[in-house]
Amino acid sequence: MQGEASPLRIVPATPADVEALAALLVETVAGNGSVGFMHPLDPAQARAFWEASLREVAQGGRIVLCAWREGTLLGTGSLVLVSAPSQPHRAELTKVMTSHAARGAGVGAALVAALEDAARARGRRLLTLDASLVDGPSGFYRRLGYRTTGDIPEYAYKPLGGLAPTRIMWKLLDAREPAPLPVDPAADERFMRLALELGERAAREDDEIPVGAVLVSAQGEVLGQGWNRNIGDHDPSAHAEILALREAGRRLGNYRLLGCTLYVTLEPCAMCAMALVHARIARLVYGAADPKTGACGSVFDLLGDPRHNHRVEVTGGVLGEEAGRRLSNYFRAKRGKPPL
Ligand SMILES: [Zn+2]
Repeated sequence: MQGEASPLRIVPATPADVEALAALLVETVAGNGSVGFMHPLDPAQARAFWEASLREVAQGGRIVLCAWREGTLLGTGSLVLVSAPSQPHRAELTKVMTSHAARGAGVGAALVAALEDAARARGRRLLTLDASLVDGPSGFYRRLGYRTTGDIPEYAYKPLGGLAPTRIMWKLLDAREPAPLPVDPAADERFMRLALELGERAAREDDEIPVGAVLVSAQGEVLGQGWNRNIGDHDPSAHAEILALREAGRRLGNYRLLGCTLYVTLEPCAMCAMALVHARIARLVYGAADPKTGACGSVFDLLGDPRHNHRVEVTGGVLGEEAGRRLSNYFRAKRGKPPL
C-alpha cells in the first residue's frame, strides 16, 4: 500500500499517459480482469486502445480519468457519453481498473466518485455498467449504490479463458450538482401568475401582505404553494416562500428540494434566501425587487455569495411591475388611497 501522506490525484488522461495506461491495462488483463481483452495482451495493442480512447475524448464522446500518487498511475476509469438524441441523460461506466499495488486503498471508489462528478458536470443522471460475475466487481459497485438489473449468462470470455456471466448495473445520480434547468420564459410567467394569485389570497382572505410563492419540481410539477401567514399564524417565519418549501418537503419526504425552482412575487428576505440554500433549490424566480430587505441582490446578495457550497440561479423581474403594483395598492388601500 502507498504512503498515506501523499494525496491521490485524479485528473483527465492526456496523450502523455498512454504508456502508463497501457501497462495498467496489460497488468489488469494478466490478472484476469474483465476489461474486454484476452491474455496475453500485446502492449502495442494496449497502447492503440488508449490512443483511440483519447481520440474519443478529444471528440467529446468519452471521459478518461487517471488516479495518480507520487507519479505512479494507480488506476483509471472511463465514461462513455452516449450520443443518441434520446439518451442525453445517460452515460456508461467502463474500463475501471486499479493496479495490484493499489488494491484496498480506496482508489477504485475515488475514481468512480470522480467519474460520477464528471457525469453530473455533463448533465448525465443515469450511469450503466456491466460487471463480470466471476471474480468481478459487482459487490464493489453495489457498495457504491449501483443497483442490479439482472445477469446475462455466457456474456464474455475471461482473459484467462472460460465464458463468464455478467451483471447489468445502474445508478441514478443524485442531483447534487444538477445541470441548470432549461429556462423557459413562458413557464416562468405561468408559474408567476399562480404565485400572484396566491398573493391575492393573502390580502383577500387573511389581510396579510400579498406575497405568494410556488415551488416547482424539475419536471414542472407544483410541489408547494404558500402565501404570507405571519399575522394569522403568529409566526415570524411564515413567509410565503417558507410555507411553499414546507409543503414540498412534506410531500417529497425530504428537506432537500433538488432541482426545484421557487417562484415568488417579491424578492426574498435573508431568512428565505438562506432557506433556499438549505433546501438546495436550483433556481429562484422573483417578481418585484425589494429595496428595503431583499436578500437576493437588492440589499444583501446571499444567493450569489461564493462562500456558500450551493449556488441558486436567480431571475428577477418576472411580471415584476404587476407584482410591485399589487403590493403598492395593498399599502395604499391601508392608507385609504386609491389604487394605482
Ligand atoms: Zn422571507
